[in-house]
Amino acid sequence: MAEPAAARLTIDLDALAHNYAEIRREAAGAEVAGVLKADGYGLGAAPLGLRLWAEGARTFFVARLAEGEALRAALTPDRPATIYVLDGFTAGSGPRLATARLTPALCSLPQLTAAQAWAGGSGRPLSVALHVDTGMNRQGLRPDETRALVQAGDRLQGLEVGLVMSHLGSAADPENHRNTRQLAQFLEVRALFPQARASLAASAGAFLGPNYRFDLVRAGVSLFGSGAREVPDERLRAVATLTAPIADIRNLRPGDILGYGDAVRIEAPLRAGVIAAGYADGVIRAGRNGGYAWFAGARRRLLIVTMDLLVIDLDDADAAPGDPVELLGPNALLDDLASAAGSVAHEVLVRLGRRAERVYLGGA
Ligand SMILES: *Cc1c(COP(=O)(O)O)cnc(C)c1O
Repeated sequence: MAEPAAARLTIDLDALAHNYAEIRREAAGAEVAGVLKADGYGLGAAPLGLRLWAEGARTFFVARLAEGEALRAALTPDRPATIYVLDGFTAGSGPRLATARLTPALCSLPQLTAAQAWAGGSGRPLSVALHVDTGMNRQGLRPDETRALVQAGDRLQGLEVGLVMSHLGSAADPENHRNTRQLAQFLEVRALFPQARASLAASAGAFLGPNYRFDLVRAGVSLFGSGAREVPDERLRAVATLTAPIADIRNLRPGDILGYGDAVRIEAPLRAGVIAAGYADGVIRAGRNGGYAWFAGARRRLLIVTMDLLVIDLDDADAAPGDPVELLGPNALLDDLASAAGSVAHEVLVRLGRRAERVYLGGA
């Protein structure tokens, strides 16, 4: 058996720039922010952020305070940008938010109170976003709470609300009435803050039509090539490509049982390609249910995924140990693999590259 070389994760920053331009075209006038939470969906928030900045992005979102600090450090003072922290104003975050010039997206009344207490000490208004829950029921102030804040007059004292935002729960399904209900709620809330900018759409929402775009679209997974309807979209390019070499080729016979357990019983002669990558490299184990790899110009059925090795059906392809197999990329499509794994493109991406060697193409 040939010495298995490691899996390689290639991150194509030119493809990122292409996708950013496509989303901007689709957003038709709305600003497109880059959502780089979880270290840029696992692909590296710093190189992604630098390239997006070079392409004109001036607004970013992260989830955690520490992610915001890391992104601010990467952008350096000569690249001004607004960085929103979706976690909002968490306990003790005031000094860190101030030092890194991060803007909290406040998402509860206690957060609002804490942010005001911190702002009161500094003597000048604290710039914040308000995250309002319009029906996803996960995060954000309720619309009635938000209305009460505005009607009370002084409840927002010390805060400068620059952005009102909400998040759609069913944007990948354009026919879903939840979208129109959330939109109607958002229109009411946003009317309470005529001076603030407004943002409702993430990747999928950006493709729902002009009513959903408002001032700012928050693009995450579409930057990396996932289609808005959770199916591949030809307009977008793959940013992440995972390849690994063939470690071995084995001829299996009817009656053989492949891998752990007895789920994969071989019924007809099969040329199995053993590939030097597994779920430790981010290939989701459940992906064998309909997932595929790309080799020698065709899709190859994924048979099993173990920690360090996976097995595909090579069929009659001309193959030799050492040949690279594409497990994710321009041909082994992100959205296909996500649906085969019963997951979403976001999860496929964040699992990548804990072990794989990483290569960036196209600089910032
Ligand atoms: C993750 C997230 C986004 C980006 O979502 P995508 O589907 O990756 O575009 C935008 N807004 C909020 C509030 C989020 O949590």
